[in-house]
Amino acid sequence: MAISFSLEGKGALVTGANTGIGQAIAVALAEAGAQVALAGRSEPAETLERIAATGRRAIDIRADFASIEPVKRVVAEAEAGLGQVDILVNNAGIIRREDLLAFSEEDWDAVLDTNLKTLFFLSQAAARGMAARGSGKIVNIASLLTFQGGIRVPSYAAAKSGVGGVTKAMANELAPLGVQVNAIAPGYIATNNTAALQADPARSRQILERIPAGRWGDPADIAGAAVFLASPAANYVTGHVLAVDGGWLAR
Ligand code: NDP
Repeated sequence: MAISFSLEGKGALVTGANTGIGQAIAVALAEAGAQVALAGRSEPAETLERIAATGRRAIDIRADFASIEPVKRVVAEAEAGLGQVDILVNNAGIIRREDLLAFSEEDWDAVLDTNLKTLFFLSQAAARGMAARGSGKIVNIASLLTFQGGIRVPSYAAAKSGVGGVTKAMANELAPLGVQVNAIAPGYIATNNTAALQADPARSRQILERIPAGRWGDPADIAGAAVFLASPAANYVTGHVLAVDGGWLAR
């Protein structure tokens, strides 16, 4: 059996591809041969430019995933623009930091809705076409907090551990239909999301000392795993949460 990492002829939908991990994944999918739909709130100008340089097509779909209201439209627009959605990467996410005893209902709901509820309903909408064709890949962006509790981020820990659970639940039901569902749990990656941690010298040093690889992750480190999970080489991998963390969880 030939092993292929090529995404030639595939259509991919990536959420939150304007910056950071989502941008690196969208560009890497294009480099592997896919046409890519970028779905998020703001214009992903730099991502569009980087994909254009690969010679692949990218389309820009505006949507606010704070609620599931745009989910069906986004999938329909991606299918219309790309022909079909063979790959869905659920990357859009937010974090709210606050002491447990002061944590608000707003910060609970915002994180659960954006990071978990939207991820499920986008997957459901994209899975219909994938199941009808008998093939497809869903890659969810989880976190180390899929496995750990963290401090001052209870809604993020709940949402990301939910991402691990729903990845397995979807994998079970979609495997007989030819669709694989996996997640990536990034370690500490240098993006906007972790800017406050990077800017705090004591906290940043503490984190670095705990990472066996001795460095923060780069968004490209996550993109490599995403291309693998989106490719035919991963056809027998499903329901897995792959930590890409420089060894953090192994310690
Ligand atoms: P960024 O803040 O750079 O990226 C987050 C992306 O999500 C942005 O492109 C943003 O788009 C999008 N997004 C957020 N809210 C919404 C919304 N309501 N509607 C549409 N899009 C939205 O951070 P990262 O690249 O680090 O984060 C990407 C993913 O990786 C997240 O799920 C995060 O939880 C996860 N992660 C990151 C880690 C890290 O160390 N950096 C570690 C573990 C997990 P825009 O604001 O332009 O609309």
